[in-house]
Amino acid sequence: MRYYPDFVPSFAHEPTAENFAIRPIDGNVGEGVVALTDFAPGQLVFAFTGFFVSEITLFTLQVRPGLYLHDPYFMGKVLHRCDPNCDVDMEARTFHARKPIRAGDWVTMNYEQTEDQLFRAFRCHCGDTPCHDQAPGRLVVGRAPANAGVEEFDAVYANAEPGAYLHM
Ligand SMILES: [Zn+2]
Repeated sequence: MRYYPDFVPSFAHEPTAENFAIRPIDGNVGEGVVALTDFAPGQLVFAFTGFFVSEITLFTLQVRPGLYLHDPYFMGKVLHRCDPNCDVDMEARTFHARKPIRAGDWVTMNYEQTEDQLFRAFRCHCGDTPCHDQAPGRLVVGRAPANAGVEEFDAVYANAEPGAYLHM
């Protein structure tokens, strides 16, 4: 079963209900993505898509300042960890495992990998080493994206306009 609605064409490595679940976070509002199968370090975990928008939402990742990819169906629900189990590639629109993921684990990313600012800034208590909770007063809002300014990256998104649907 797909997570993306029928008007989004199927694409390679899209997440399905066979491999992932979306579950509520204990003692909190919101949801997260849980793996239902194991992934080895370096393995492609899933590919994602979305809508280009000019404003940050709860479900966007930043393509570049002022341009965001909005995915309220799946990618936008991936939770933050300071030492996450996935890396995100905004050019390829993929998540890869950076350490072993076991069935039942949350799928996580570090929002600072892509985001200059968040829809809702928060004080992280994930407990990873290092975690921003250990730097008093520092919120999880970040630095410039690591891949900003890369020529190939800019070329992929050169014609992207806010509101355009991204075809895979
Ligand atoms: Zn943390």
